[in-house]
Amino acid sequence: MENKTILLIEDNELNRKLVRAMLPKDKHQVLEAEDAETGVQLAQEYKPDLILMDIQLPGMGGLSATRIIKKDSVLKDTPVIALTSYAMQGDEAEAREAGCDDYITKPIDRQRFLEAVSRFLKHDLVKNEP
Ligand code: MN
Repeated sequence: MENKTILLIEDNELNRKLVRAMLPKDKHQVLEAEDAETGVQLAQEYKPDLILMDIQLPGMGGLSATRIIKKDSVLKDTPVIALTSYAMQGDEAEAREAGCDDYITKPIDRQRFLEAVSRFLKHDLVKNEP
């Protein structure tokens, strides 16, 4: 399997550690950003295969960052999975409206998380097929 790059944008250190621990180390390079501005810069620089986006970030929020990424001609097809601890009604619709491709609530269910990551990385491999 080709080595994939995942960009994790999350301000909480413990959450970053938890996500890192769930991802198989040998198969993915994980880039990390603690705020949305840095995350967008890293996305533009490294063109990751998948972005894990915390929605509640200091400064620019995760939804605004997702909108920027989805308007970027190079990055617009990069899948973005929203991560949020606020499981409030309407949040998922708002995240999807901003361009998020999936939505995972914290605490993160490991099985659900790995299924989503696998699905998007696999999709990326076949995206040029009809
Ligand atoms: Mn946060």
